[in-house]
Amino acid sequence: MKEDYYKILGISKSASESEIKKAYRKMAIKYHPDKNPDDPTAEDKFKKAAEAYEILSHTDKRAKYDQYGHAAFEGGAGGFGGGGMNMEDIFSQFGDIFGGAFGGGGFSGFGGGGSNRGSARVKGSNLRIRVKLTLEEIVNGVEKKVKVKRLIQAKGVTYKSCSTCNGQGQVTRVTNTILGRMQTATTCPTCHGAGEVMDHRPSGANAQGLVEKEESVSIKIPPGVVDGVQLKVTGKGNEAPGNSISGDLLVVIQEIPHDKLKREGNNLHYDMYVSIPEAILGESKEIDTLTGKVRIKIDAGTQSGKILRLRGKGLPSLEGYGKGDLLIHVNVWTPKDLSKDQKAFFEEMKNDDYFKPIPTHSDKSFFEKVKDMFS
Ligand SMILES: [Zn+2]
Repeated sequence: MKEDYYKILGISKSASESEIKKAYRKMAIKYHPDKNPDDPTAEDKFKKAAEAYEILSHTDKRAKYDQYGHAAFEGGAGGFGGGGMNMEDIFSQFGDIFGGAFGGGGFSGFGGGGSNRGSARVKGSNLRIRVKLTLEEIVNGVEKKVKVKRLIQAKGVTYKSCSTCNGQGQVTRVTNTILGRMQTATTCPTCHGAGEVMDHRPSGANAQGLVEKEESVSIKIPPGVVDGVQLKVTGKGNEAPGNSISGDLLVVIQEIPHDKLKREGNNLHYDMYVSIPEAILGESKEIDTLTGKVRIKIDAGTQSGKILRLRGKGLPSLEGYGKGDLLIHVNVWTPKDLSKDQKAFFEEMKNDDYFKPIPTHSDKSFFEKVKDMFS
């Protein structure tokens, strides 16, 4: 059972914004791990307080918490499902709590900011493109070739170690804060964290030694993608200066609407029109699905509004298990402007009691059918 956020901060449910802030400041100072090296529970308390403050200091999150309790943030919403907040998050909060003193880099010796250049190389910026796909491409997955303009290191460019930070990418300074003397690390102002500066700049290259180049990139799109989904092609974004790694290419999927099939999650809907005689006598009809033509049997005496379900003829789930269905909605087509003879033909039926609607239990209403489909 998770502890109540108000209890953690020692405040009442009606606490004002400034009371919440004040309570959290007190807790953060009291349980700061640097101040409690001998108390292993301090870090846990410190983290709990930070999490409570993160929720209660945001009006919208607080309202959700007041209404639903911890359940409102389960499953990762709010940025810390299960695992709690990491130290970096907590310290980024400190800017507005303690005012400036902690802005920028992290604390020393705390994981967060650190000075391990080996694992924290500078990364180039990401590129983002849109790819339009038809449902036919989505059902099986597809490989798409796209052209992207990437920034890459110019031919002949050389970089040398930055003298301001000695190649560390960060400069550290010691400040006096209300928590005592703190070592803070900030990004090097000369190389902006790269640890390297340009030595030789070829003509045509920008201030970072980069040039734009058009490249063809092949993107493997898995089956079942949904409009708006973003895929990542690692390393196909912009390069960065020096000994760095490339950014990523982010591919946003855009679905081209199908002229006959309507998508709803992994299911597809198809509107089928049959004539009055076809509905009465029955008929066999061919329809297009995403994976080829399929023959459908319309039973004699089919009611308008009947839904036929073709299992597995929908779209595969992106997670790779199960397939949606194709739902065929049968509509009986009613003609207008009949000839005299045709009118006479139907006049006769109109007067025949046999054609009067007498819905039986099996002729469910539209609403009952919809209810069945989703139950
Ligand atoms: Zn530097």
